[in-house]
Amino acid sequence: MPPFLPRNVTHSLIAAIVSATLMMPVARAADSNPSFRTCVDQLRDKAIDAGVSRQTATRVLASAEHLDRVIELDRRQPEFTTTFADYLNRRVNDDKVKEGRALLAEHRALLQRVKRETGVPPAYLVAFWGLETHFGRYFGKMSVPSSLATLACDERRSDYFTGELISALRIIDEGAISARDMEGSWAGAMGHVQFMPSVFLRYAVDADHDGKRDLWHSLPDAMMSAGNFLSHLGWDSDYRWGREVLLPDDFNYALADGEKKPLKDWRKMGITDAFGNELPHEDIQASLVIPAGHRGPAFLAYKNFNVIMGWNRSEYYAIAVGYLADRIAGAGKLQNPPPEDAPTLARDDIKALQEALQEKGFETGKPDGILGPDTRSAIRHYQSANQLIADGYPSKALFESLHITLKAEQPQG
Ligand code: CA
Repeated sequence: MPPFLPRNVTHSLIAAIVSATLMMPVARAADSNPSFRTCVDQLRDKAIDAGVSRQTATRVLASAEHLDRVIELDRRQPEFTTTFADYLNRRVNDDKVKEGRALLAEHRALLQRVKRETGVPPAYLVAFWGLETHFGRYFGKMSVPSSLATLACDERRSDYFTGELISALRIIDEGAISARDMEGSWAGAMGHVQFMPSVFLRYAVDADHDGKRDLWHSLPDAMMSAGNFLSHLGWDSDYRWGREVLLPDDFNYALADGEKKPLKDWRKMGITDAFGNELPHEDIQASLVIPAGHRGPAFLAYKNFNVIMGWNRSEYYAIAVGYLADRIAGAGKLQNPPPEDAPTLARDDIKALQEALQEKGFETGKPDGILGPDTRSAIRHYQSANQLIADGYPSKALFESLHITLKAEQPQG
C-alpha cells in the first residue's frame, strides 16, 4: 500500500486509486505534498464557481503536479543586471534579421491580411514572433496547468495566478487544446507569441477558421491574435514605434526623463534622425529614451513604444521589438551601438550606490538594490551637482566618483 493512504480506506477505493495511479504517465511528486492537494481542491471549487465545467476542473486539476522548478524560477534573482548591449545583441543580430526577412517573405500574404484587419505591419508581427519564441522554436515545455496551479498555491502572487489558472481551464473547456498538450513557459505563457491565458481568452482569434483558437499549431491564429492584442492595446497604424536619433553636443540629458513632448519641441532642440536629417513635421508626442547612458544610442519613442510596453513592461524589450522590426523591414544597424564595456551591476553595487547618494543628500528612496525612477533621478541630481553629464545612467565613472568598487571588479576569494 502506498504510504500516503489512510488506513481506513476501503479496498475498492484503493483499487481505484492504484489503477488511476498506474495510468499516470509520471510519478506524482504532488501526492507527497498534502497542502498542495488541499490547495488544488480549493482551486477546483473556485474554477467551478467561476464557470469552468466540473468535468474539466476535476480532471485537469487531479493530474496537476507541484513543480518545484517553477518556484525556483519564480524566486530567481539574477545576481547581476543585464546591460543594454548584452540584451540587445542577444535578441537582435544578423542571423535573426536574416531569418526574420525570410519569414516575412514566406508569410507575406498572411501578414498582409493581419495588417489589413488589425493595422499592425508585418515586420512588427515577425519581430514579436522572433523575440517571444525565436520564430516558433521555443514555446516552453512546462505543463501550463501544473505551472499555474503551483504558482496559484504559492503565497507570492496567488491571486494573479489563480485567475490565470482559471483562464487556462476555460481555454481547455472551449476545446482549443487538450490539457496534456497545453505547454508553455514556467509562468504560463503559451504558443508562438507567448500569450498568458487571460490574454488568450480575450484576444486570441481563430484566423484559419478551423473552429479552434490554436496559438501553438496555427501561425494564422497566432499572428492574427498578436495583431488583435496590439490593436486593443492602442496600436497606432499611422506611425512607427519611434526611431534612433542624434542629440546635439550640448544636449541637456535631464530631458530624457520619460516625459512626452511634441515632436516639434525635440526638433527645435536640435535633435535629428540617426543620419542627421531633420525630424518629420508631424503633430505627435514623443519621449526621449537613453537606455545605455550618453555614450550609447538615443531614441525618440512614439505612441507604439508604449503599446509594446503594454505587452511587456520593459524599455529594453520595446526597443528590441522596434529595432528588430526596422531591421527586418530593411533598415541597417544602429548608428550609435550601445557601448559593450558598460558595467554589469550586482544588486549590492546598486545598493551601495543608493546608500552613497543618500549620504550626500540625494534622495533615492529606501536602498533596495533596484534601479528605479527615484534612483535615476537621484543620479541625475548628483551628476548635475558634480559637473558630470546628467544622463541618470550608472556608469563606471559614476561609481568611481563615489569611490564604490564594483563587485565584478573586486578580487575574488
Ligand atoms: Ca484556428
